[in-house]
Amino acid sequence: MKQELIVDFTFIGMGASNCLILKSLIEHGQLKHKNIAIIESDSKTTNDKTYCFWATPDESIIGELKPLISHQYQAIEINQLPKQNIIKQPYFYIKSIDLYNYAAELILKSQIPIFRNEVKDLKYKDGIASIITSESIIFSHYVFDSRPPSFSDLKKNDLYLNQSFYGLHVKCEKAVFNEETFQMMNFNVDQNEFTQFNYILPFSPYEALIELTRFGTKKIDNAYAKSILTDKILNDFGPFEILDEETGCIPMTTYLTEANEHPTILNTGARANLIKPSTGYGFKNMFEFSKIVTHRLASGDLNNFNQIALPSKNRFKFYDYLLLFILIKWPYLGKSIFSTLFKKQNIKTVFAFLDEKTSLLQEMKIFAKLPFKPFLCAAFIYFWKHIQKRYFYATLLVLVYCLLHFFSASLAKYFGNFAVIIGLLLVGIPHGAVDQYLQGAKDKKQHTLFILKYLVLIGLFYLLWQFLPLLSFVFFILYSAFHFGESELEDANVSLDSIRNKFNAFLLGLSILVLIVFTHLTESQMIILKMTQIQIFRFGASSQYIGITVSLTTLLFVMFRYNMLSKNKAIGIITLLFLGVLTPLEFAFALYFIGQHSFNAWQHIKTRLTIGSFALYKKALPYTIGAFVIFLFMLIYSNELLSLNKNYLAHFFIFLACISCPHFIFMHLFYKNKNV
Ligand SMILES: Cc1cc2nc3c(=O)[nH]c(=O)nc-3n(C[C@H](O)[C@H](O)[C@H](O)COP(=O)(O)OP(=O)(O)OC[C@H]3O[C@@H](n4cnc5c(N)ncnc54)[C@H](O)[C@@H]3O)c2cc1C
Repeated sequence: MKQELIVDFTFIGMGASNCLILKSLIEHGQLKHKNIAIIESDSKTTNDKTYCFWATPDESIIGELKPLISHQYQAIEINQLPKQNIIKQPYFYIKSIDLYNYAAELILKSQIPIFRNEVKDLKYKDGIASIITSESIIFSHYVFDSRPPSFSDLKKNDLYLNQSFYGLHVKCEKAVFNEETFQMMNFNVDQNEFTQFNYILPFSPYEALIELTRFGTKKIDNAYAKSILTDKILNDFGPFEILDEETGCIPMTTYLTEANEHPTILNTGARANLIKPSTGYGFKNMFEFSKIVTHRLASGDLNNFNQIALPSKNRFKFYDYLLLFILIKWPYLGKSIFSTLFKKQNIKTVFAFLDEKTSLLQEMKIFAKLPFKPFLCAAFIYFWKHIQKRYFYATLLVLVYCLLHFFSASLAKYFGNFAVIIGLLLVGIPHGAVDQYLQGAKDKKQHTLFILKYLVLIGLFYLLWQFLPLLSFVFFILYSAFHFGESELEDANVSLDSIRNKFNAFLLGLSILVLIVFTHLTESQMIILKMTQIQIFRFGASSQYIGITVSLTTLLFVMFRYNMLSKNKAIGIITLLFLGVLTPLEFAFALYFIGQHSFNAWQHIKTRLTIGSFALYKKALPYTIGAFVIFLFMLIYSNELLSLNKNYLAHFFIFLACISCPHFIFMHLFYKNKNV
């Protein structure tokens, strides 16, 4: 029978991050009268790590952790450069065992039960987490989870390498060390086709921790490192005795562990992405994090507890990416990059840069002095991997269009029409030609029935256009707006369950449509007149600016104010709409309709039906041809087939309206069913 316990807070793991959080919460009285439990699989009785960091003496980390700091260095020697004074920002050294012992005392004093078991499972129901070990089940309102992150689901674009090291704590026969000065990143060692360097942290004139560190995809071999270190120590410092050994490995990765999906479970430490990918330093971040957690608890605000995070700037993630990419692809360049960095920048700037506290201008100056080529190549590859290729191709198409237009407007027009037709045949029409599969039509009879229903709806709407074109047009705009917005929010994983989000979806789609119309006002007016047979609006230039401003503001407002779309998705949409401004209406509409809307919907369908593009395309083909036949029929019926004037465009939009009317309904059901 497992022991059961109900508590307010549970700490999973009592390593660096949770020790700091527990310490801060207890010392600020935030755990008074609370039931706490700690689950830690390890005894935490050995000095398994050292935590080093730089800080100015007035920083709170120094004030609060003073009793734990066992050493500090006032000077630094980097890569054999002349010694630099760091008295204003010394380098501090904490033994992990001192932190564990400190936390153990607090735990004892506060009479917090500690379970020396491994957490096997973590479940969540109705605001309560169940933490399961082989001997107990703890039901907890809030959880601090510091289990190491799993890197098993690294994504294609994630980079991963190891910062592995082997260190010897030695005692030399002679007084060879200056205990005030430490050596950092000395590259004057065998590189072995990786990026390898030494650290020397002296504790007395005789004693020091001397490490060999490797940045590489392969971890350092202890025997190899020991022989390199032994030779070096004998050579540089003479005979010595080994007091202790230290080995370790810190993941250096661009992979970001997501916040826990449950609102009361907070990831901490490495699991909260607090270790800087390009350096492996994380202790100071964990201290800052413990302060933010304490502040949140003190303010009584426990909403979105799982989202507590350190503020971060995206551009530093980009820099980390560049460096990791270079270290993986061209590991032998590490030595020259770091050597140049330390040679060209003073240590204060380097520390500020590594702390992500430099300004953009400072960063540009730093990069300007680094080897240019590898960073440029890495940046190019970053953009190529991260940019959605469709935006790249859309830009290319528009550039070709503009170039052709410079020489011949009609040639550009043919090119534009050709591109639109190809896009429509490849994704535009097919994305709406598999609706019967979305509704789970199983046998032939169900398929036939579905198609009949579909054709009847198309036919009815076409009839409506013949008699009530204005009403049909308004209806078309309204459902298209919702349909576009719904697919955008689906793509951004935003649930449409609430009325507010449904309205936001509508507003999003409407502002996109209105923006396209107002940026092509003259053409739009002409086509709408043809579609509706009525002059519904006639605006001048000043109204055009107002229309553009209002729709653009609405679009940005919905995207950013409600954080509906990620920055990248929002930039994608804005890019397509901006490119559209350089082209005629039909091209602009197609850029969004094909490049964004249909493309996204195609991906949603593929994922949901777990089917590849080719197989889905084969399923869509008969209905794509069917849709094409319907379009030809409409053109013949209206005698427009060969007159390539703007009338065919009006018919094209009516055709689109007719076939998209049932599509809008079935796509909505498809998205809705998933949301259930
Ligand atoms: C050898 C080494 C040296 C480092 N040196 C520095 C440094 O000098 N400066 C710096 O800024 N950063 C350093 N780091 C990076 C970082 O600060 C440390 O890794 C830090 O310990 C991370 O804290 P954490 O709480 O995320 O993980 P940990 O400190 O590893 O704590 C996690 C705890 O969870 C426990 N646990 C894991 N799984 C379970 C489970 N299923 N059930 C119960 N308990 C579990 C573990 O036993 C452990 O005690 C170093 C890292 C390493 C590996």
